[in-house]
Amino acid sequence: MPVWQDYLEKAAAYHGHICGGQILGIRMSLLGLKLLNLDPESDLKDLVIYLESDRCVADAAYVVTGVTVGRRRVKIQNYGKTAMSFLDLKTGDAYRVAVTSREHPPHSADPVEFWNKKTDSDIFKVQKVGIKLAPGEEPGPPSRVVICRKCGDEILDHKDLTVDGQTVCRACAEKPYYQVLSEISLK
Ligand SMILES: [Zn+2]
Ligand SMILES: [Zn+2]
Repeated sequence: MPVWQDYLEKAAAYHGHICGGQILGIRMSLLGLKLLNLDPESDLKDLVIYLESDRCVADAAYVVTGVTVGRRRVKIQNYGKTAMSFLDLKTGDAYRVAVTSREHPPHSADPVEFWNKKTDSDIFKVQKVGIKLAPGEEPGPPSRVVICRKCGDEILDHKDLTVDGQTVCRACAEKPYYQVLSEISLK
């Protein structure tokens, strides 16, 4: 049994089902770690993953590597691509792995069997890449904390903007994703 299948049960439990995304995500993650000479069973504390999708493969990357958004080790750059980059903060080395295979198993086929027949070079393209963490993207304590002059919310990690000489949050500066309907009192 290929090594990647060891992760399949865990991925299915975490994600809710076995799908092509779990299989590809596990294989991409193991390949990324191999390129960086990192052992998937080690603590991987210097690993940062850039996900170019927030679909199924994202969960598989978590299951294999244990990196989480809350530890600032997962950056989502949603290009809508089944691709991810693996950055080792210790060495600065990074590799991007992207799915190039346009084949999908037919509905009647077992996805595990289908993808097992494909080698990594059948499925993926690999690039050595340079990645510079943007200011405020580093793991660790926030390097900047300010208050939005418009809404009063606290803004961490250089996400604030200066508009007309005032420090404001992105929601106040741009059109937010939400529309305030009413303020609810908790008293
Ligand atoms: Zn899925
Ligand atoms: Zn604001």
